[in-house]
Amino acid sequence: MEKISVKAARQATAIGHNVLVQGWIRTRRDSKGGFSFLEVNDGSCLANLQIVAEGSLPNYESEVKHLVAGCSVAIEGEVKASGGKGQVTEVLAKSLKVLGMADPETYPLQKKQHSLEKLREWAHLRPRTNTFGAVTRVRNCVSRSIHNFFQEDGFLYIHTPIITASDCEGAGAMFRVTTLDLPKLAAAGPPVKNELDFFGKPAYLTVSGQLEGEIFACSLGKIYTFGPTFRAENSNTSRHLSEFWMVEPEMAFYELTDNMDLAERFLKRIFKDALEQCPEDMAFFNEHYDKTTLETLQKIIATDFRRLPYTEAVEILEKSGEKFEFPVKWGIDLQSEHERYLTEKHFQVPVILYDYPRTLKPFYMRANDDNKTVRAMDVLVPKVGEIIGGSQREERLDVLTQRMQDQHLKPEDYWWYLDLRRFGTVPHAGFGLGLERAVQFLTGMANIRDVIPFPRTPGSAEF
Ligand code: ATP
Ligand code: MN
Repeated sequence: MEKISVKAARQATAIGHNVLVQGWIRTRRDSKGGFSFLEVNDGSCLANLQIVAEGSLPNYESEVKHLVAGCSVAIEGEVKASGGKGQVTEVLAKSLKVLGMADPETYPLQKKQHSLEKLREWAHLRPRTNTFGAVTRVRNCVSRSIHNFFQEDGFLYIHTPIITASDCEGAGAMFRVTTLDLPKLAAAGPPVKNELDFFGKPAYLTVSGQLEGEIFACSLGKIYTFGPTFRAENSNTSRHLSEFWMVEPEMAFYELTDNMDLAERFLKRIFKDALEQCPEDMAFFNEHYDKTTLETLQKIIATDFRRLPYTEAVEILEKSGEKFEFPVKWGIDLQSEHERYLTEKHFQVPVILYDYPRTLKPFYMRANDDNKTVRAMDVLVPKVGEIIGGSQREERLDVLTQRMQDQHLKPEDYWWYLDLRRFGTVPHAGFGLGLERAVQFLTGMANIRDVIPFPRTPGSAEF
């Protein structure tokens, strides 16, 4: 007896094998001939395995005929060729053991379709649905693909800290990490004695591993980090989470163009792997969520991304004749509506915008000679908008120190970061890809909360 997954049992090569299959019932259909068809899924693939349970099974009347969606079972039997449509195999059960029943009166996932919003309330059960099974497998595929891409290219995987004492970018709002007794503090009144906190000073959850990533790039060449990041922004959009996963490569001896080349090659690889390795799941998304998904992805893999300076993008937007909610002029931070216009309507391919106004960007981005812009780049894709943000980093000590002062940051707080420029400084660059934005783009899921197992958003951290 060979223990086998639903995926393996569905292959023609399994025919004739005696197997043990374990999973959850999706449906039961009783035949007039006194036997039943069971559809079993175990998460190994989108499709179910058909089980034929004959009336001669000792527990046929007592158990099999009571099986409903959600029950867990272990089936021993022989894989046979199936005459049914949609499958080449089925399993003729020799024994069927019920591991756990599921009361149809109270089990939430009944046959009828539930809205994605409703399913979010059942994050402990939604992985049992077709949609979340497919999302989970695609997300896994992307994660593996990310590691493969960098590992094959000689990048080192670096684990940067999750707790940090520096407000890295001066950018995103941060979650504070503390062991101070808050009620006691409140009772004692101000000032807060930070020196009594766990680390002897305020500490936070990281918004990015970049600054620490730069340390390793500036010693070991090409590195990447891949881990959770946290943003305490109150942005309740379909593209923002308070906790998300970010991949951040950082490369010594790379300039902005090298950075763009890498980002483009990287995205294409991830998309190609998903199409090749999850064809069934991707076809499902194409059919049920967005009929243009497969076509768009194939086109993107085959075409060059459009590269364009911010200044030219603003000109295009100004001349577009579109009615934008936020009016466009040079110097504004582009909104999602502007990004999407460029990539969806104007160019209809992914766009890499670069050379942004320096007032919009953090201190570490390399200043251009025009005194106005920095070597930043954002990769924009249809439907999602920004999927990658990156830059060439400022490697000149004097310029970097000046930029910090301009942004009211204390250079002494970043002494170790400045040391990288003091001792053997090199041109370097990097970027960050939000894993969930990538999965969102691939699957066509409209809301980012549906591509992470347990979404954290303002006011919501259930499970
Ligand atoms: P946005 O403008 O979309 O809010 P950002 O410019 O603040 O993003 P970066 O700091 O450049 O984001 O982060 C790099 C990447 O991380 C983004 O391109 C995006 O893919 C992802 N990302 C950023 N913030 C979030 C978030 N709150 N939830 C999910 N992904 C995010
Ligand atoms: Mn960005």
